[in-house]
Amino acid sequence: AENDFQNKTVCVTGAGRGIGKSLALRLAELGAKVIAVSKSDENLKQLAAQNNKIIPVCVDLCDWNATKEAIKPHLPIQLLVNNAAVAILDSFLEVKPDDFDSLFNINVKSIICVSQEIACDLIERKMSGSIVNVSSQAASAALKDHSIYCASKAAVDGLTRVMAMELGAHQIRVNSVQPTVVLTDMGRIGWSDDKKAAGMLSKIPLNKFAEVEDVVEPIIFLLSNKSQMINGVSLPIDGGFLAT
Ligand code: NDP
Repeated sequence: AENDFQNKTVCVTGAGRGIGKSLALRLAELGAKVIAVSKSDENLKQLAAQNNKIIPVCVDLCDWNATKEAIKPHLPIQLLVNNAAVAILDSFLEVKPDDFDSLFNINVKSIICVSQEIACDLIERKMSGSIVNVSSQAASAALKDHSIYCASKAAVDGLTRVMAMELGAHQIRVNSVQPTVVLTDMGRIGWSDDKKAAGMLSKIPLNKFAEVEDVVEPIIFLLSNKSQMINGVSLPIDGGFLAT
């Protein structure tokens, strides 16, 4: 699969930290030109300093027009990972309308925005592509205090299936991944409490959380030609959590 990424441009959203950052670095190592999109300039600068194949694009993905403008100069982009998201936790009865709006804006609507821009261009140029949306085990299982987060990730998987269906004829594949807990900044929001962590670990057959690399490598597989007949799936990366 190494050669898959030579001379390819890959866009990774949410590349400033966590899973997106490791993914951007790994793809650059494999020879891809990486368009690294994220909100905070400081994080992006640190990332771009580590590999000159990484091109930082600083934009708030909640701003639809600004996002399209920021992506345009970097087209064509054949590979895309929609990874940026936030977690806002609250009990269902306490969910705030503004939290719903901001969470769905970044976790769901920005995927539509970025993917439209990139896919429209590929279709015009008659180029194939592969898109991976980063969902979560939370798309398929209830997690306490995660109601709007779970809803947003279920929306990501629904969107993934329709994108796969409609873009398939243009040889653009679309899949999602559903990781279990990874102790990034986001992971720590929900799972740094020992008791909560123990409760989750007891439900994961492999009895451990995922490492960033455990998520990065399956995403790279889904981007690569090794998965060329895989389209419209949501792949758990959860140590068996969703199987039990
Ligand atoms: P992090 O919080 O560590 O990183 C999120 C990245 O997204 C940051 O770089 C952040 O930018 C960027 N981002 C957030 N909002 C915006 C915005 N409005 N505009 C541009 N960029 C934005 O998250 P993770 O690495 O943990 O998560 C990555 C993906 O994996 C997410 O989709 C998450 O839902 C999913 N996931 C995570 C799990 C976990 O336990 N960690 C488990 C299952 C799924 P900045 O650096 O500027 O803040």
